[in-house]
Amino acid sequence: MVVQSMAATRTRDVEATIEQIRMLHEAGSGLVRVAVDSSADCDALEVIRRRIPQANLTVDLQENFRLAERVAPLVCKIRYNPGHLHHVDRATPLREKLSYLARVAERHDCAMRIGVNCGSVDPELTARFPGDEVSAMVESALSHCAILDELEFRRYAVSLKDSNPAKVVEANRRFFGQRPDVPLHLGVTEAGIPPEGIEKTRLALEPLLLDGIGDTLRVSLTVAADRKWEEIRAGQAILADMARGQRTIRSHTNRLDIVSCPGCSRVENTAFVELAQKVRELTVYAREHDITIAVMGCRVNGPGETDHADLGLWCAATHVNLKRGRMLVGAFDYDTVLVRLKEELDAILAQRAD
Ligand code: SF4
Repeated sequence: MVVQSMAATRTRDVEATIEQIRMLHEAGSGLVRVAVDSSADCDALEVIRRRIPQANLTVDLQENFRLAERVAPLVCKIRYNPGHLHHVDRATPLREKLSYLARVAERHDCAMRIGVNCGSVDPELTARFPGDEVSAMVESALSHCAILDELEFRRYAVSLKDSNPAKVVEANRRFFGQRPDVPLHLGVTEAGIPPEGIEKTRLALEPLLLDGIGDTLRVSLTVAADRKWEEIRAGQAILADMARGQRTIRSHTNRLDIVSCPGCSRVENTAFVELAQKVRELTVYAREHDITIAVMGCRVNGPGETDHADLGLWCAATHVNLKRGRMLVGAFDYDTVLVRLKEELDAILAQRAD
């Protein structure tokens, strides 16, 4: 079982990214994922690859899947998100896009990961399975597997991530039931700040590992870049505890849930990590209430991935956008947003007490 992680630094910041990869590799990360979103990121990755040849690198193709050609010679695995692939270059049929990725991967001896994420599922599938996110995620993965099979590309793995541990368990069990031959990468997306982020991940991964499901894993934690090694330690601890027969007992339901992303090269202001921490401290008084607060680190995925939360904060360079459900409350400074967050939280609690 391989424990892996992802660089939270800007890929273009070559020195910081090399340092991040070195730290994760030395902590025991069997694979380190690096995001590329532009030609400048590809240039940086060429330098990074040369300077740290010992680490196994996997690349996260964010919105621009055509960059695969530039980065495949530098890495051993390419991860793409089916939801993003759907949105980009809509004139090109999906099969053609996958054929392009498969040929590039084959030419450069790369594996692929079909990385399905609850916050960015192909909207056609979301519409086909209204209110049933798990079915939409599983169908997304199965349909991509079927196309890759038809294209005779076999070196792929799948991940089905959600911020809700129960949905991660259900999605992976259902997928495994239909495709036990496909390797699975396990994780809870946006698990949040430790120790809660680790507990949430354990709640999903332990039952799956007990069922013999999973080949690689990641514990996605909201911590500063220089503490990212904690993701590896947490993953190793889960595996060690499982080997000793020790399991987590606490249930995750009906409590205040802070969902926060682990950060990646898209973070515009690293203060978002501290903000997530402050949100947790501020909202302790509401911990017995079934409320979800999401804190996201960028403008790309932040707006969509806060949609399902009762209160959402997505962080830009100089301000934080606060949402109540899907509605934007406003944009606030990093210093003042907490005051407004508390007002909104109190309003929700008062409404529920009525
Ligand atoms: Fe990266 Fe944005 Fe996702 Fe956070 S929400 S992990 S910053 S893409």
